[in-house]
Amino acid sequence: MGIGIRLSQRSELANGQPISDLMSLALNRPDVISLAAGFVDQATLPAESTKTALDALYGDPTAMRAALQYGTTPGYPPLREMLLDDLQKVDGLAESPSVQMERIVCTTGSNQLLHLVSECLIDPGDIVLCAAPTYLVYLGTLANVGARTIGVETDQQGIVPDQLEAEIRRIEKAGELERIKVIYVVTYFDNPGGVTMSADRRRRIVEIAKRWSKRHSIHIIEDSAYRELRYAGQDVPSMHSFDEDGTTVILAGTFSKSYSPGIRVGWGILPEHLVEAVCQLKGNIDFGSPNFSQQLMAKVLELGLYESHIDEVRRGYRPKLAALLQAIESDIAPIDGSNWVAPLGGLYVWLRLPEQLDAGPRGRLFNVAMEEGMFYVPGEYCYPIDGVPVKKNTMRLSFGVQSVDGIRRGIESLKRAMTKVLENQD
Ligand code: PMP
Repeated sequence: MGIGIRLSQRSELANGQPISDLMSLALNRPDVISLAAGFVDQATLPAESTKTALDALYGDPTAMRAALQYGTTPGYPPLREMLLDDLQKVDGLAESPSVQMERIVCTTGSNQLLHLVSECLIDPGDIVLCAAPTYLVYLGTLANVGARTIGVETDQQGIVPDQLEAEIRRIEKAGELERIKVIYVVTYFDNPGGVTMSADRRRRIVEIAKRWSKRHSIHIIEDSAYRELRYAGQDVPSMHSFDEDGTTVILAGTFSKSYSPGIRVGWGILPEHLVEAVCQLKGNIDFGSPNFSQQLMAKVLELGLYESHIDEVRRGYRPKLAALLQAIESDIAPIDGSNWVAPLGGLYVWLRLPEQLDAGPRGRLFNVAMEEGMFYVPGEYCYPIDGVPVKKNTMRLSFGVQSVDGIRRGIESLKRAMTKVLENQD
């Protein structure tokens, strides 16, 4: 008999999360059009500007050696200063005395920030309230730390404040208010919903979190991963900017979508009281995310390469979103019971299908769609464990990777698959 392998309980909790399977499906089946993975468009990756920034670094051997050395746990100070300046500019804030550079921590993508903050705040059995649907990878992170995720009803702007409050009241009645630790929101072009919260709603959600922070703080994690990917309309100030005393909102940001996911630089702006805990934990894990990547990004910003790249990214994605919406309009809209919200940015469209269609990984549609030549992210992966029940007749469509033609053909395949499955139902 072999020796039994006993994995940790935490490792067991990590099991069964769909993200890796979806990513490898996308890579292993190049013959099938993926409208699934949220990869960024290969064609718009900033090869030229990154070379310019690297050349500038190489050109100064002292700076280059400094970049090749270990950095500090919270990250490269000039980058953190620049991030703060930028944020204050886009949020229309004057120099804000409440946000100091010390409150910014650079991480390995914003996923690491989400993970570190969750580790710091959540014990097994604690509650996280999030949109239903929400970002599926973060649901995995939360499963890892043993959180109970509760999905709150959403509309065309994301989480509905009255529903959020009703859920909190219900939890309080059950004697569990103390277990609510976090409200998680993707405030710009939500993944997967595509929706963006108005300024008024941001203010209301901050107010709710503060009002219910009776004996302990209920923090909000504001995930702003897609803020820069706006193709129409006006930017909205961050939820963080409505947190006047800076004690409630943790803002997570990233260069992954707006510049390059391979460089892996994300960051968080934390309430002062969390900085030490997050840095202690991070210190025990990696004592700082890659210094080289942070210095490279600082150079990209310093040389003004970032702003111009964002323009290019927007120019690249705008026609793809238009093509997807047009294809849905002509191929899917005629199928009774389908609906969607047209986003103004980001990388995703959330599609609701006729009630009787199960778009889940074990439903017929997923396989028939593969046979017809496309695949998508089943919407059921994006639902928290409790709260709003899973709607299996949903899917996330991503338009970042495919060409306009690929998007059109992908939606034609989906239409054929839906028609086939609907015709063959009892
Ligand atoms: N938040 C959301 C909503 C995302 O969609 C992603 C990437 N898919 C991330 C955070 C994390 O990205 P990264 O770790 O590359 O910064």
